[in-house]
Amino acid sequence: FQREIIQSEKLAVVGQLAAAMAHEIRNPLTSIKGFLQLLHRLKTMEQEGEIKEYTRIMVEEVDRMEKIIRDFLLMTKPSDVIRETISLDTVIERVLVLVQNQAILRNIQVNTELSELPPVLMHKEAIQQVVLNLMQNALEAMNVGGTLTVRTEEEDKYVMLQVIDTGIGMTDEEIQNLGSPFYSTKTEGTGLGLTVSSKIIKEHRGQLDVQSEKGVGTTITIRLPK
Ligand code: ADP
Ligand code: MG
Repeated sequence: FQREIIQSEKLAVVGQLAAAMAHEIRNPLTSIKGFLQLLHRLKTMEQEGEIKEYTRIMVEEVDRMEKIIRDFLLMTKPSDVIRETISLDTVIERVLVLVQNQAILRNIQVNTELSELPPVLMHKEAIQQVVLNLMQNALEAMNVGGTLTVRTEEEDKYVMLQVIDTGIGMTDEEIQNLGSPFYSTKTEGTGLGLTVSSKIIKEHRGQLDVQSEKGVGTTITIRLPK
């Protein structure tokens, strides 16, 4: 009986996700259809400017759909994965390399306060995805430059990582919405990054906490059990 309830709750969640997904995909589709109709109406093949412009927009919209579907699949991936015992430091160093260029481009200073952490059992690719999502969000929150601080600490029962930015921050209401699938305040956002991340952290029996102040910055803390 218990199992049935859980099963039907899961189905309800899947249904909601599917509805939200359909909604997200419909916008770019509608836009592509509109531009295809415009293309169809062009009188001569001489209107190269229009053709170029319409097809450029259509490619952008297809890119957007691809991004939504990619993040969505990541979220629904089965969770029977290989876990290995490694240090979170290794993952952090890898991700720092990935975001370095973007930080320079955005005029963001990157500080690291890393302590040597004991290795813990984790799904490396998934945790790397989480750390990347958090750093990506931090960078995107700082349009006029700022400081990204990455801190680690060994606690009694956990290894802890903090991603701290001096960006736009969030209101209490925005914090409440965090993690809802497709919730995004960005024009280019999919709103799946934190949904995926909190699912991954939960699967590791860890914790994800958010502290944020509008106009001041945000600190996201994750903890993985030792
Ligand atoms: P996306 O980045 O695609 O918008 P996320 O799930 O990663 O989706 O984040 C959802 C929303 O949470 C963002 O659109 C933004 O409003 C808010 N957010 C997340 N991280 C931060 C941050 N470091 N600073 C300010 N806002 C943030
Ligand atoms: Mg994001």
